[in-house]
Amino acid sequence: MPSNGSEKSLVNNHFSHIYIEKQALEYPDSKRIVHKYPNAIRVLIGDYKEVFNRPHQRFQFQKRSMNLILAVKKDNFLYSGSTQAPDFGHRHFYYNSLIMNCVYNCDYCYLQGMYPSANIVVFVNNDDFIAETKRQLAAHPMYLCISYDTDLLAFEKVVPFCSRWIEFARDQSDLKIELRTKSSNYKAIAHLKPSTNVILAWTVSPQEIIEKYEKETPSLKRRLEAIGSAIKDGWNVRLCFDPLLRVDRWQSMYAACIDQTFRLIPADKLHDISVGVFRMNSDYLSRITKQRTNSEILYYPFEKTDGTVSYPQMEREEMTQFLLTKLEKYNEKEKIFI
Ligand code: SF4
Repeated sequence: MPSNGSEKSLVNNHFSHIYIEKQALEYPDSKRIVHKYPNAIRVLIGDYKEVFNRPHQRFQFQKRSMNLILAVKKDNFLYSGSTQAPDFGHRHFYYNSLIMNCVYNCDYCYLQGMYPSANIVVFVNNDDFIAETKRQLAAHPMYLCISYDTDLLAFEKVVPFCSRWIEFARDQSDLKIELRTKSSNYKAIAHLKPSTNVILAWTVSPQEIIEKYEKETPSLKRRLEAIGSAIKDGWNVRLCFDPLLRVDRWQSMYAACIDQTFRLIPADKLHDISVGVFRMNSDYLSRITKQRTNSEILYYPFEKTDGTVSYPQMEREEMTQFLLTKLEKYNEKEKIFI
């Protein structure tokens, strides 16, 4: 369905069907979502995997008209952080999966290769995720990424997971959460008091890349406005120049993007900056390229190392060094993580 790229239109133009596990029916979040989409056709199911893991689904075809699946998560409330993701020096690095899949549709998104379906699974038993996090916190401090396999802030109008986790983290001195997003929907959490235990992490990309490869996401300008407001309100904000894509004229695009960013964003108020070159599990990439033939960035002659594909080492180093040189004009070295 057509979209004007706003979160509102994205969450309003989809979800003609809602599949609901019988055991999920009575949860307040299920009731909230069903109430939000009164015209959606409801289908009761036994287990979300019956629908989500069905064979022969076409991810990109489903992306045009995503449906919702409401489920109760029974195990794996926490996962150990992937070695492909930066841990920012934290020893106990975890992520969770409150929602599977994303309202956006970036060309390079690994979810297309990881999941059999583009439908969005929402786990309605958030309290169980919180309880497991508390259990882990009793043993050691935690750095927890809550928006990895989705974009939670873009979905905040449907279920306010961001608000809940920010409020939960506020009282946990040993917990640091990262909320990663491309959304400009900062206003959905702007009423909350900033918490030092929370990092709002925005992905920043050149506008040309957003238009071509980060479909449906807010423009650079709108992201920067959201970032500016969050900093002004006193939040810890991280900028993520990740994934860097090696496209034609990448140098001039990223240089202009960095200049535009720091014309608007006060560098001294940033928590930190993350830089990462495109990389992906090689099995995911091979699954994606079988079904997505219209995106040239996926067909680069990548180098494969230990099951991960990325640009050849010299090109990776060239890109990282280019970004570092540009970023260091505005920021202290110590704030930049690779
Ligand atoms: S915003 Fe992130 S999770 Fe969502 S489609 Fe893009 S890369 Fe995937």
